[in-house]
Parts: sequence; C-alpha cells; structure tokens
Amino acid sequence: MDIDPHIFTGQRVIGILGGGQLGQMMLQAGASLNLAFHVLDPSAQAPSRHLCTKFVQGDFNHEGQVVKFGQACDILTVEIEHVSLEALNKLASMGKEVHPSPQVLATIADKGLQKQFYEKHGFPTAPFRLVDGREPLYSHQEWLPAVQKLRKGGYDGKGVVVLKGLQDVDRAFDAPCVLENLVDIQKELSFVVARSKTGQIAAYPPAELVFDPRYNLVDYLVSPARIEPVLAEMGTEMAMEIANKLDLVGLLAVEMFLDTQGDLLVNEMAPRPHNSGHHTIEGNVTSQFEQHLRAILGLPLGSTQARGHSVMFNLIAGEGAEGPAIYQGMQEVLAIAGTHTHLYGKALAKPGRKMGHVTVVDEKLETALEKAIHLKNILIVRA
Ligand code: ADP
Repeated sequence: MDIDPHIFTGQRVIGILGGGQLGQMMLQAGASLNLAFHVLDPSAQAPSRHLCTKFVQGDFNHEGQVVKFGQACDILTVEIEHVSLEALNKLASMGKEVHPSPQVLATIADKGLQKQFYEKHGFPTAPFRLVDGREPLYSHQEWLPAVQKLRKGGYDGKGVVVLKGLQDVDRAFDAPCVLENLVDIQKELSFVVARSKTGQIAAYPPAELVFDPRYNLVDYLVSPARIEPVLAEMGTEMAMEIANKLDLVGLLAVEMFLDTQGDLLVNEMAPRPHNSGHHTIEGNVTSQFEQHLRAILGLPLGSTQARGHSVMFNLIAGEGAEGPAIYQGMQEVLAIAGTHTHLYGKALAKPGRKMGHVTVVDEKLETALEKAIHLKNILIVRA
C-alpha cells in the first residue's frame, strides 16, 4: 500500500476524541512526524489543549458535536472508548477513516459484549453471567462470591465490586452488569499489540501490573514481565489473535490474569494506547503512541524491542490533595539518571487522580526497581 505523502505535510487532519493524557502523548509522538491533529474534549483545561493544531471544546458523546468535529478531519481515532458511536458510524459513511472501527468500539465499550466475544472465539476468560441490576442477583445466589462489573462506563476499578454473598447485595450496582467468578490471581499482565490497516501486526513484551489496593490503580509496572517465556508467548499469541478476530486497526491492550494454577485468563481490553504501555516511550524502540499512529496511518510498524528493564509508576494525587497541583520532589527526581518524568498538566489535583507518571529504564531490573521505589517516596503531588 502506498503511503499518502500529505500525511507528513500537515494536510491530512487526524481527529482525536478525548484530550486527556493519552491524547497528549499521542500528540507528542505525532509532532516528530509533522502530523496535524484536532482534539475534542469537554474540558477547556484538557492536557492536550496546547499541543494540537486545533482544540475544540465539546462532548465526545454528543452525536451532533462529534459529527461536526469529524467533518473537519480526515482520519478519526480515540483515546477513550465511551464516545458517540452513532456519530462515528455517520462519519464512516461520509468516507472518513475511523480507527478503531465503531463496531470494535461497540464491543469493547460493553464488558458484557467483550465477555461474549471471548467466549464465542474460545479465548479463556473467567466464567460469567450477565445480570440486569440488583434484584436479579437473588436468583444468582449460586454465583456468589463473585465480581460484579458495570457493563458500561467503568474505569480504574470504579464500576467493579466484590460481592461475597447476598449480604452484599445492598452494595451492588443496580445496572446492567457482568457477574464474574473470582479469580485467584497470581499476577496481572498486559499484552499490548498493534495491528496496522495493512494487516501488519506487532507485539510488545508483556508488562506486569502491581496494584495499589487503596485506589485500585496500577501501583507500578514492570516490563518485560517476570514470567516464563512460554507464558509470554502464549499471551502474546492470544492478544494478536484477538486483534485479528476483531479486525482491529490501531493499538490493543489486552489485560490478562495469570491465576494460581498457572493459566492465563483474558480480563478486558482497550483499543487504544493504554496506561500499561506508558513505559514504551523510553523503554522500547517505538513508543505505543507512535505505534498507534503508524497503525492507523498504514505506515510500517516500528520495532517493539525493549531497551532494558522498565519500571513505571503513576503519579497519583494523595489524600487531601484537592486543588491546584504542586509537585514536590521534582528537583531530586530530575537529578537521578535514567528516570523520565511525565506531568499531564492537569490543573486541579483530586485524591486518587492520575497526574503523571515516571518511567525508570535500566539494564538491571533490580536497579530500576530500587530507583522507582525511592522516587515514589519522594515525588508527591499535593495541593
Ligand atoms: P477496570 O475496567 O475498572 O480496570 P477491571 O475489570 O480491570 O476493571 O477490574 C479492576 C481490578 O479488579 C482488576 O485489575 C483486578 O485486580 C480485580 N478483578 C477484576 N476481575 C476480577 C476477578 N474476576 N477476580 C478477581 N479480581 C478481579
């Protein structure tokens, strides 16, 4: 396939629905290739606002606003999956390129449809039932204990609750949900793959996620993951197969559980750059953000090879940090070699809000871990 030369002269506009940190880092990657971007986000303070050719303040869930925004673009992509699919379908029928496709977004934006997709194609996943609210839980007593997940709109652990038994029904969501067996988790893993519109596919070495139980956010991530090569290979093949079955164009992050039996189970996926791929900016030859752009533009995919061991942690606003953000410890952090700090430019801190991330890359995993743990203690977001 020939590459459209106008991509590199800023004459083709890439529209991004969502202007948060994922959009911001996509724009940073695109700047090196002289790509032109429009961004749509409801917040006038969105992290992406300064880096795009044109920023439009508006609602990415509003059909009319998304259609109007998209008409001025040539290619549309997303940094969030909860967007107006009606609008994207309309834009696709007007001849705009939409990657990932509205069909892929529809499947992924609904955890119930995601689970049915895994089941239909034989990808291992925790057994589940679809339940329409709180009342029907009483007729699914034999399924408890279980994890209840909102089918739509959940993120970062919001929209997930563990129900030990009927005594917990009062705490349950009263909305369409997935009721899923509890998995005895040994490790949580993420497999990021890219599939280009030419069909070329590339996979990053897996990442291992360690969670902060207070906020249900990733505490830190290690890549390549500390797992047997055969498991890494199995998970990678599964993630690539999922991307093929979806006919996905762009990046796909597939989160999996390694259970205590040593089996891999698919948990969920995201059709875009993902928190679990931030370390690729410095830790791999091609960053996930550049790779996503390469994939949706039909450019050759870049090497996914690791440059060493990466440890990445999110910079999360602490308890009581409510208001204009202050980053404490930057002087010391910036003086430590091999550390890469990314601040997302969010004007206001809120306890539990992701304000940035730090990646440490080193030849030795122990050194990277030591530095990261030290940095986590000295770099504090307060208000
Ligand atoms: P989100 O979309 O909010 O990230 P997830 O489905 O990834 O939601 O769930 C959040 C976290 O809850 C997971 O990272 C995992 O730690 C835990 N979890 C999810 N499903 C299960 C399960 N079936 N068994 C045990 N823990 C689970």
